[in-house]
Amino acid sequence: MDNQPFSYVNELMKVINGRGDTRMVIEKFLAALRREFVFDNVATYLQDNETGTLEIVYARAVGRAKNAEADAAWGEDIANQVLAKKQFLIQEPETPSKSEDRVRQAYLLGLPLRADGILNGALVFVRFGGPVYTDEHVAVATLGAELLSVLFERRAWRKMNEELGELKQQIQLQEDFVSTISHELRTPLGFIKGYSTSLLREDTSWDEETQKEFLTIIDEEADRLSLLIENVLESARLQSKTLPLRFQPLRLDAVLRDVSTRIRSRYKNLDVSLDLEASTAIQADGVRIAQVFENLFTNAVKYAPGSAIIVGLKQVGHLLIVTFTDRGPGIPAESLPLIFERFYRVRSEKATGTGLGLYICKQIIEAHRGKIWAESTPGQGTTFFIELPINQIAIT
Ligand code: ADP
Repeated sequence: MDNQPFSYVNELMKVINGRGDTRMVIEKFLAALRREFVFDNVATYLQDNETGTLEIVYARAVGRAKNAEADAAWGEDIANQVLAKKQFLIQEPETPSKSEDRVRQAYLLGLPLRADGILNGALVFVRFGGPVYTDEHVAVATLGAELLSVLFERRAWRKMNEELGELKQQIQLQEDFVSTISHELRTPLGFIKGYSTSLLREDTSWDEETQKEFLTIIDEEADRLSLLIENVLESARLQSKTLPLRFQPLRLDAVLRDVSTRIRSRYKNLDVSLDLEASTAIQADGVRIAQVFENLFTNAVKYAPGSAIIVGLKQVGHLLIVTFTDRGPGIPAESLPLIFERFYRVRSEKATGTGLGLYICKQIIEAHRGKIWAESTPGQGTTFFIELPINQIAIT
């Protein structure tokens, strides 16, 4: 039995199932199809989801490959007709000429293509000067169009699947956030309510020292609450890109010194060492940059308790690189790519937080055209890196 047709179909399937970007697969596929089905030019059209107009996804013109896509307007008319009639169409010259002009006469074959579960494209072949399309030719071309549709369908599904995965992760983060935030809001509120109720009790009289102690707790917890609310609002503003930045000449070494002095006065026994090169001034928002550094300090205090913190600053080419290193427990490898996501917290984490701090840091650094990332070895510590470009015109 002759199994040649099957091995040919098999080969086409293999190309369709192959890896690579869509253009490359289509190109390989049409080259394979050309072994059994003769054509000069080919164009693939798909409807644009929003405008509904036909867009050229791929076009190949023998000998004119470079401008193939610009030239592929020749197939547009028949492609539109195929879409309207929902079937294959053949357009051949009415009176085949015997003259030399013959080679300019186009024999067109248009076939419907499906993607996204609906008929929304066409595959158009042209032969110059014939031969006419026989039933057998049409059968092979139809098989080609069907297989190409499989490719488009599959790619559309894959894309949808990826989007779904991202959406699921987003929902998970939102859910985690709701439970974190309600806990975070409730804790300070509980303190405020508890201590103020105690102070207001008429059956108890508190000495002045105790009253002061209670009021201090209420004051601190109110600050914590307002910081939390500010963070939530700020992350929303950063996400919608409506947080204004005030750029001015800034020396990072000076900001790092300032912030570390503030942090040292807040955490008296904190071991901070600075290794700062005097740096070129850059255009940056001093308040926001200080906020990023402060966040990295407080994270190190929270998540690497008792550890020394080493802060570095150096210039490498046209970049300033700031590093914050601690010798804490580190971050699990699977969490490392996620810690800058909005609301993300390491699940086993006991320290309080909202998962907004590093997200805010990332947005601020990116608004300065910089990058922020972390490297960590569990059990040994974590280093946060910030890379900021020195502006084209350095300010001295
Ligand atoms: P939050 O501190 O509110 O949880 P962040 O966005 O600041 O949110 O941090 C996200 C997560 O990254 C934290 O939950 C923590 O698990 C982890 N993390 C941040 N800094 C460090 C650090 N220096 N060492 C270990 N883990 C850290």
